[in-house]
Amino acid sequence: MRHVPHWINGQAVAGTSGRAADVFNPSTGEVQATVDLASTAEVARAVEVAKTAQLQWAAMNPQRRGRILLKFVDLVRENMDDLAALLSSEHGKTYEDAKGDINRGIEVVEFAGGGAAHLLKGEFSTEVGSGIDTHSLRQPLGVVAGITPFNFPAMIPLWKSGPALAAGNAFILKPSERDPGVPLRLAELYQEAGLPDGVFQVINGDKESVDALVDHPDVKAIGFVGSTPIAQAIYTGAAAAGKRAQCFGGAKNHLVVMPDADLDHVADALLGAAYGSAGERCMAISVAVPVGQETADALVAKLAEKAAALNVGPSLQPGADFGPVVTAAAKERIEGLIQQGVDAGATLVLDGRGVQVPGHENGFFVGATLFDHVTTDMPIYTEEIFGPVLCVVRAADFADALGIVNSNLYGNGVSIFTRDGAAGREFATQVEVGMVGINIPIPVPIAYYTFGGWKASGFGDLNQHGPDAFRFYTRTKTVTTRWPEGVSDGASFVMPQGS
Ligand code: NAD
Repeated sequence: MRHVPHWINGQAVAGTSGRAADVFNPSTGEVQATVDLASTAEVARAVEVAKTAQLQWAAMNPQRRGRILLKFVDLVRENMDDLAALLSSEHGKTYEDAKGDINRGIEVVEFAGGGAAHLLKGEFSTEVGSGIDTHSLRQPLGVVAGITPFNFPAMIPLWKSGPALAAGNAFILKPSERDPGVPLRLAELYQEAGLPDGVFQVINGDKESVDALVDHPDVKAIGFVGSTPIAQAIYTGAAAAGKRAQCFGGAKNHLVVMPDADLDHVADALLGAAYGSAGERCMAISVAVPVGQETADALVAKLAEKAAALNVGPSLQPGADFGPVVTAAAKERIEGLIQQGVDAGATLVLDGRGVQVPGHENGFFVGATLFDHVTTDMPIYTEEIFGPVLCVVRAADFADALGIVNSNLYGNGVSIFTRDGAAGREFATQVEVGMVGINIPIPVPIAYYTFGGWKASGFGDLNQHGPDAFRFYTRTKTVTTRWPEGVSDGASFVMPQGS
């Protein structure tokens, strides 16, 4: 049985807590590995190592640091096939989708490595007073930690570690215990690229190790991505401990369909956005909002036909549109929510429960599921299902559709499909959501813009990747300087004034 240890001070280190968790292959339902779960003492050891390593790393000039990160990007590309296969086997997303997970991650490391020297530049003003100059520095925080979810086991650790390392911090990753294989491989590749030991470490674990990181006085920042209740609790805990935090939570993403949209285009976009990765994406579209009864009837007819033809299968089998969900518990929860939708009176157009995949009878499969006539008080609407379930909430007009989106608890992503530029512009301006697509179903911003949701989807004021990530992982120091010449004017007891 494969065993996933920690990665401390440049080497794999077996856990000493005596606690471990099973890592499943969701396509077969079998346990394929065990992962060690760290104790508070093991976390403390990693922080100690990181503190020392960070000093040397921060002293290296940012372009040299960047080169190591760019070398790492090359190594990840060279190892892409193996990494994608491992990711797919632990998570359950298809092999091609696993490559997307990795590629969207290294795009950020590439941005961070290539841009570090520029993004870390401070400002300089001369003659702010007589003979006085002022300049600002962006300095690393020290040791920072990233706590990441199961659904993007490569992308999110890379989104966090790339900018943090480029800025001169030491980074401790606490990945999801459900698919820890790829994060550990990333640690090996960072080392192979030339990253000094102790600068990137992996602590596997659960609540105990997360609490230890949040409480440790030498961990200066916490970057979290996961479900909303945990995001909020960690944000509160980190703030109480006096450290900065950016904590991203769950989502319920809507796609508004205006009557002038091309419905074949919309239906295809919705299929990928709702059912891709079995709906286990924080930017998955889980609610379609057609405007007007005619639009709704036509859209549901198209979706019903197309969704019924989707192929759910083992993640590594070519031809599967999407794979299983991550655990038996996730499958049970999703199927329970489908039943709650039926009980609440929604129309179950397509039922993905009880789907059988020949030869993989014990896999955690849920087929594509479609609900029509969903109302905003039903549990299938109020809760994040995080499975291949698409709900149709019918809207009377544009204002109604906008109101539905803005009344939702979450504000991660949203999309509108229309041919009317004015409607698209009005929607993008008025909608209370962090990331907006106009005729784009999953508007995940590229690496040099920032990623972050609003409302219950994000706690903290700076987003992930893009220039925001450098602001998050550095603190500003402002230096005011005068080199005295000639005779002193004597003591002054008046507040210095700029003008
Ligand atoms: P999760 O909240 O269960 O776990 C996330 C991380 O927190 C994991 O590392 C886990 O070990 C740790 N954790 C779990 N319980 C904890 C506890 N009680 N105390 C401290 N730490 C704990 O989330 P998940 O199931 O791994 O991921 C899916 C969720 O993540 C969904 O809600 C999804 O929307 C969200 N997500 C959000 C974004 C975003 O950018 N907003 C991106 C990806 C995923």
